[in-house]
Amino acid sequence: MAFCINCGQMQADGTKFCRFCGGQQPGDQLIARLRMEAEAIRYQMQQMQAQQMQTQQMRQANYGQQQDQGQRW
Ligand SMILES: [Zn+2]
Repeated sequence: MAFCINCGQMQADGTKFCRFCGGQQPGDQLIARLRMEAEAIRYQMQQMQAQQMQTQQMRQANYGQQQDQGQRW
């Protein structure tokens, strides 16, 4: 499934021209490139999320240590 790059209407895969607005649709090569870029962005997002998770876990670990110290005092 694809969407018109001009009007955003749903298109069947492989459509050359939009049946709603007549706008030319990206070719297979462009779609493949866009998919690769989307994959790269998704990979970066996953990396960022993983870093954020690590930071949160470190914060929680530090918080736990502080609480332990608090209980000791
Ligand atoms: Zn269109």
